[in-house]
Amino acid sequence: MKLEGKVAVITGGARGIGAAIAARYAAEGAEVVVADLLADDAAATAKAIGGKAFPVPVDVTRIASIESMVHAVVARTGGIDILVNNAAIFDMGPVVEVTEQSWDSQFAVNTKGLFFTLQAVAKRMIAQNEASPNRRGKIINIASQAGRRGEPLVAVYCATKAAVISLTQSAGLGLIKHRINVNGIAPGVVDTPMWERVDALFAKYEGRPIGEKKRLVGEAVPFGRMGRPDDHAGAAVFLASSDSDYVVAQTLNVDGGNWMS
Ligand code: NAD
Repeated sequence: MKLEGKVAVITGGARGIGAAIAARYAAEGAEVVVADLLADDAAATAKAIGGKAFPVPVDVTRIASIESMVHAVVARTGGIDILVNNAAIFDMGPVVEVTEQSWDSQFAVNTKGLFFTLQAVAKRMIAQNEASPNRRGKIINIASQAGRRGEPLVAVYCATKAAVISLTQSAGLGLIKHRINVNGIAPGVVDTPMWERVDALFAKYEGRPIGEKKRLVGEAVPFGRMGRPDDHAGAAVFLASSDSDYVVAQTLNVDGGNWMS
């Protein structure tokens, strides 16, 4: 029970990696907030987790929505100890075909949404920590191996995730004096609803049958398979617990060795 008594907000917590982290945090004793654009899915996920888990709708592209989510959580729980900034979307295409809409929507969720959720929660955590000298905050940004290098068909998503790694460094350095640790996790290739979309888009742009790209990327992972959502939960618990108090501004690869290879 490494997170006993903590309140943890997980954006994009309705499914995929976010839902797996939410379930593990609840098993470690946290009161979990499943914060997602998909209100029905968030409610179903919170119900499946059970215990003190509850859903709050949020659209991280709208600052007013982020603020009302934080307000609703604090009204119910009294504070926020942990934020997992996990919500993101994916799109791809050749550099010369990227549309302004594709650029704007990915940066709106993956980068701007992540930053202003971090900011809103950090303000709350700073006030809490000033009132209680032993309290800390933990913020975990979900980046990607895509943020560590370019890809010919994935320029914009890669750039949004490179920005997440950079923001983790700056916010980590800026907030540690307030006893807020900001760190990140960079997954590799993970079998979630997002990868169904990735696979369909690779099928379109590389002329492959549906499912082939997913099979090939899974076979190429040194560990021997694609990641599963729960593969990331242990690292997410570590970065949310007091075990990581001296870890600042890092993004940890949790990818079965993919980036190293
Ligand atoms: P997913 O698409 O299965 O889940 C993402 C969740 O984010 C969904 O529940 C969705 O409703 C929510 N969301 C999207 N836009 C939102 C918004 N505006 N406001 C609030 N919620 C919103 O994705 P996943 O594969 O579980 O990915 C989780 C995280 O891991 C993302 O940050 C993703 O970029 C990252 N990641 C995934 C992979 C992978 O292979 N699946 C690899 C590396 C990094």
